[in-house]
Amino acid sequence: MGRMRVFVRVRPENEREMRSDARKVVEPIDDQLVVFDPLYEEEQYYYRGKVYKEPGRKQHKNIQFHFDRVFDEEATNVEVYEAVTKKFITSFLEGYNCAVFAYGATGSGKTHTMLGTPHDPGVIFFTTMELFRMIEAKSEEEQLELSISYFEIYNEMVFDLLAPTVGKQLAVREDPKRGVVVANLSVHQPKDAQHLLEMLDFGNRNRTQHPTDANSESSRSHAVFQAFLKRQDFSSSQEMSIQLSKMSLIDLAGSERASVAYRENRDKSVQREGSNINKSLLALGNCINALAQRDPKKKPPHIPYRNSKLTLLLRDSLGGNCHTAMIAAVSPSSFSYEDTHNTLTYANRAKGIQLNLKKNNVALNLQPRNYNQALDTMSRKVQDLTEENNYLKSELNRLKSEVSKEPRNPITLQENGVDLLNQQKNKLDLLFSEKMSLRKKWMEAESSLKKLDVSYFFRSLFC
Ligand code: ADP
Ligand code: MG
Repeated sequence: MGRMRVFVRVRPENEREMRSDARKVVEPIDDQLVVFDPLYEEEQYYYRGKVYKEPGRKQHKNIQFHFDRVFDEEATNVEVYEAVTKKFITSFLEGYNCAVFAYGATGSGKTHTMLGTPHDPGVIFFTTMELFRMIEAKSEEEQLELSISYFEIYNEMVFDLLAPTVGKQLAVREDPKRGVVVANLSVHQPKDAQHLLEMLDFGNRNRTQHPTDANSESSRSHAVFQAFLKRQDFSSSQEMSIQLSKMSLIDLAGSERASVAYRENRDKSVQREGSNINKSLLALGNCINALAQRDPKKKPPHIPYRNSKLTLLLRDSLGGNCHTAMIAAVSPSSFSYEDTHNTLTYANRAKGIQLNLKKNNVALNLQPRNYNQALDTMSRKVQDLTEENNYLKSELNRLKSEVSKEPRNPITLQENGVDLLNQQKNKLDLLFSEKMSLRKKWMEAESSLKKLDVSYFFRSLFC
């Protein structure tokens, strides 16, 4: 058991904010505490030992929030990666699902944190590079395979960002073994760091862009980057284990209300787009509320994952069986007062989400190629054991017949009769113990055969 880790990142003020007389409404106190809408010294005065607010000043909220880590304006993407995702990598390699999602209003720094730029790459780049590095170091002992995919959910439609076909939406399906999957999503294996950077840049350029009031460059889509790890272990003669774990790194669309983002846009299609984006984030908010209120002693409440594609796809990332972290991105400026307040309140609520982690030791995502490989290995073992079994059977029969050939009538004692009798007795003892050990081996071989029976293998794989 654990809980969702929640981080807050405050971005530096942009030029527009610096030029204006907007004040800062977010003050990181230390690396875990942040104050929203603080009361500044110069706005209060002391009279007869008491603190008073200057008359005519707006009431400050002055709320303290405590998070797993607060990154101030100086923090770099590497620092965020090291504190947030680096810790998940070992768990991911051990077979646990992991998810990190960036939440916040448009222009608060989500894409900068998750994706960055080719010159200042973000969490996705550092995480993937470290995964490839660790897998390369391990690949001699185990069969490990890492592949990546990148897609966006825009207006409740799913598009492949790495294999874009104009206007072609992908279907979201529920697979009883693999959970919720995007059908026909392309998967890739970048060659090196440069190749990965190019892929991310290409993917990001394919994101659906729409200008909004807050930031004309920001995307209105949810971008989901996933790394899949397949680990196959054929070393044990008794069973074959296949592990599939998934790391999802998600750059969510702006969390501001659609009516705010589109207040100047009267175009119907854009308004519909806004309401759908709202639908996904609203559903995410409802899921987070329901999950945070879950009481392990009571009957689990209904979690409305099905209300949007985003929540359906994030079900296994939110629902418990996953190391999950949220990075809440905020602007420090009073321009974004409401959005920042909403984001911090939302992030504070997400801290209450309990996780219930278990390894994905099931045979997920088996490809025909792997079935054939597994079948070959098993067939060879079955053949070896059948041959051994036949040999043991014939040896046992030979021994039985030798024992039965021994004279049954009492032996008439001659001069060396006692010696002869002892010799016969020793021979019989030897034959008997040999027979027992052969029978034991035979039974062991038979039980191994039963275990390795191919139909048994498939039954155990799918039950
Ligand atoms: P979002 O994805 O949340 O809409 P972006 O990541 O696109 O926001 O950030 C908006 C602008 O602010 C971008 O120009 C980005 O480069 C800049 N920015 C965001 N966070 C930082 C940061 N921590 N340091 C420097 N610039 C940042
Ligand atoms: Mg963005």
